[in-house]
Amino acid sequence: MVSIIADLHTHTLACGHGFSTVTEVIRAAADCKLEAVALTEHGPGYPGGVGIAYFNTYRDIPPEMFGIKVFKGCEANLMNFSGELDFDAERLAKMDVVIASCHKEVTPIGSVEENTAMYIGAIKNPYVDIIGHPDSPLYPVDMEKIVKAAVEYNVALEVNNSSPAARPGSEAICTEMIQYAKRFGAKLAVGSDAHYHLIVGRFDYAFAIINQLEYPLDRVINTSMETLLSHLRRNR
Ligand SMILES: [Zn+2]
Ligand SMILES: [Zn+2]
Repeated sequence: MVSIIADLHTHTLACGHGFSTVTEVIRAAADCKLEAVALTEHGPGYPGGVGIAYFNTYRDIPPEMFGIKVFKGCEANLMNFSGELDFDAERLAKMDVVIASCHKEVTPIGSVEENTAMYIGAIKNPYVDIIGHPDSPLYPVDMEKIVKAAVEYNVALEVNNSSPAARPGSEAICTEMIQYAKRFGAKLAVGSDAHYHLIVGRFDYAFAIINQLEYPLDRVINTSMETLLSHLRRNR
């Protein structure tokens, strides 16, 4: 049976609104029998979060722990309507995985046209692997355009398992995104967006909605290590 083999979206104590250590997150992923976990701390643009130096010392964390792979990445913030991120290209190139997301604490909220152009700007960044939670009701978009851009630039769109709790009203937007992704051939990624280690590896909502809409699981980038690595390494 096809299942999710890696949690591609997790946070730790470091961001100021998470509750577990890096070690607890990795151990929780191993306990869930995942093959990999990505550390994707919020970028330095997030108020009260980590500074850029945090990402330098990722070097001390081994690439494998407790028998699973550890990807060292980030959840970058879209900083303006051009979709520029809070990391430069050199820094992004060194990450194992880059999620780019809009957060109300730092990302401006615009019209449908502005929000859509902002997301497409981030999609065009060659180091962005995944657009995080594009289902936010706070950032209304032209989803067809976003999905088509994701196909053109080979970026995966995230089905975020925490969206129903974190972004009430997101389910209808997520449904629309998956339907367009199925129709136009966009890739999806699944992540827990855990801010506590007990949430790591929890994909119940994401897996159910993907299956319910009969989206082909072989186009979810984290259903096999081979598919995952080929996506993450395509521009690195
Ligand atoms: Zn986020
Ligand atoms: Zn997150």
